[in-house]
Amino acid sequence: MTLIQLPYAPTALEPIISANTLSFHHGKHLQAYVDNLNKLLPGSGMEELPLEEIVKKSTGAIFNNAGQILNHNLYFTQFTPAPHSALDAESPLAKQIEQQWGSLDAFKAEFEAKGVSLFGSGWVWLSAQADGTLVITQEPNAGNPVTQGLKPLLTFDVWEHAYYLDYQNRRAAHLTALWQIVNWPEIEARYTK
Ligand code: MN
Repeated sequence: MTLIQLPYAPTALEPIISANTLSFHHGKHLQAYVDNLNKLLPGSGMEELPLEEIVKKSTGAIFNNAGQILNHNLYFTQFTPAPHSALDAESPLAKQIEQQWGSLDAFKAEFEAKGVSLFGSGWVWLSAQADGTLVITQEPNAGNPVTQGLKPLLTFDVWEHAYYLDYQNRRAAHLTALWQIVNWPEIEARYTK
């Protein structure tokens, strides 16, 4: 397993996510999960499996580290620097959000609320079911919706390491700000692929 490269410069997401936070979050936290998994995999019988399969099949320390790698790979590759992208109103994803929530703003409000109310460390996810229906779920710790047969599309990391340097305890303010850097074409592509 190798550390993913960020698809933007370290300062590209400022001021929403500072270069300092990115350097710790990607360069230290995610790197540690990669290093841990590379120590745990030999002899596990899962050495050759794709990351997503490891997450589906594993438990314990392997699950915790593999899950955190998959989560962060999806997280870091869903952002884009300014100029900020928009959700294409004619896209299948936009139409599905409109059908289920009535508006993008109503969807964002529920997604943020579920991120704020998640107790402790974890992730809030937008995922698709096999029939294209969307769901928002909360996952504790290293959880990923693939373990429930869902296709993950968008996620906000609510571990304190994701925001504490920039926002301290203001998790809600951090989550509200994140919408400014969401790469909607990437989320649309995940939905239709
Ligand atoms: Mn994180």
